[in-house]
Amino acid sequence: MHVCVAERPTAVERLSAGEMLERAALETALDHVRKAVVESPDRFATPADVKSAVTESWTEALEALLQPTLMPVINATGVVVHTNLGRAPLAEEASAAAATAAGRYTPLEYDLEEGARGSRYAHAARWLTFLTGAEDALVVNNNAAAMLVAVDSLAAGLAVVVSRGELIEIGGGFRVHDIVAKSGAHVVEVGATNKTHIEDYARAIETHEVGAILKVHRSNFSVSGFVAEVGLADLCDLGERHGVPVIFDQGTGVLESLPFAPDEPSINDALADGAALVCASGDKLLGGPQAGLLCGGTEWIAKVRTNPLLRAVRVDKATLAGLEATLQLIAERGNEVPVRGMLELDPEELGARAEALVEALAPGTRDQCTVEPHTGRAGGGTLPGVDLPGAAVRVAPKQLSVAAVERQLRLGEPPIVSRVADDAVWLDVRTLLPGEAAIVVQRLDEILGASDNQTIG
Ligand SMILES: *Cc1c(COP(=O)(O)O)cnc(C)c1O
Repeated sequence: MHVCVAERPTAVERLSAGEMLERAALETALDHVRKAVVESPDRFATPADVKSAVTESWTEALEALLQPTLMPVINATGVVVHTNLGRAPLAEEASAAAATAAGRYTPLEYDLEEGARGSRYAHAARWLTFLTGAEDALVVNNNAAAMLVAVDSLAAGLAVVVSRGELIEIGGGFRVHDIVAKSGAHVVEVGATNKTHIEDYARAIETHEVGAILKVHRSNFSVSGFVAEVGLADLCDLGERHGVPVIFDQGTGVLESLPFAPDEPSINDALADGAALVCASGDKLLGGPQAGLLCGGTEWIAKVRTNPLLRAVRVDKATLAGLEATLQLIAERGNEVPVRGMLELDPEELGARAEALVEALAPGTRDQCTVEPHTGRAGGGTLPGVDLPGAAVRVAPKQLSVAAVERQLRLGEPPIVSRVADDAVWLDVRTLLPGEAAIVVQRLDEILGASDNQTIG
């Protein structure tokens, strides 16, 4: 066989990763210097001025590119499960467990007792069954995946009945019924946007080949006025009479009823109501890592376990280790996970923390700050109607603009994410983790204290 080596694209032409990085940094630097030349030509009298500006800018751009993009940030928004900031921060025990599993070998799919192959799905499942009373449980990548694989396992080739009042968008432009449509099942919508009755479901069951009824918790919005929905227990009765399993997309991961939001449906209640499968997120109100929890009857979980789709949504070892540790913590010590702790902080305690933060500021900085009541949020598309009364440090800068302070906080190290409202920067102390208040103090002193010599930015 004749191989013409010379005509093949050679590896030599391809830049190495390091060269790609240098080139990207150089492009950024050139853009930056071009803009500077247009804006203030006086600064670039000679070619040497341009050259040194490019060199300096290139070095800076290279350093910036070498920074990890997933660095820790300080969440001073008061939004506890902040989706843009990675949802739930794990308990120390859970992040340690996740880090250990990530860096070591671990019997992820190995049965140490038998010395033979085991199942990755055995790991956190034990704690889930203990905590929820479910017969069996399974963990996948996230809630959306849990719902997809649940619907596909129970209703591929058949109809899934969903109320028109529950065709929700879960964020990022993703809609529950679009996800269901990607499974082997098809959606049959029943009822109206505001009202769905038990007869609507009954009629659909009589006129279609139905594989499952899907009830979706409206976790991220609330409805009021002329509205009616069918409760999960009634839906499960109906399903039972017709031999149709009910899947409940619970979403939030609340195990038992929340003291500050008693109407929020829990996984445990849903199972007691008779749901065949309950889907929930691991990283919302449960306070664990991103994961999709599936709890339910043995026969239904078994169907999911043998579904080939499960392989496409499988969960990794670090997540499982973090989830196992989170669930164990909840089982042993109640709700001592950071998310639950932050949700349940009372306004007096938060007021005291905000006062202490302001007290620690340098006098010149303190003059620009006050402690004010501030409403926190659960976030992550959960508990939309629940206000969390708390406290924030309100910064009304004397020299700098509000936008400049917000920006300097956000672009510093570590980044501090705050909220701008009513001509001020607000730093809610609810979502500051241990040790972070001291960093906020230092940064505020730097930004507001150094402002004397600066023009308004
Ligand atoms: C959050 C949520 C989802 C999506 O969960 P992810 O973990 O983000 O995939 C689906 N359904 C409901 C009801 C939710 O609240």
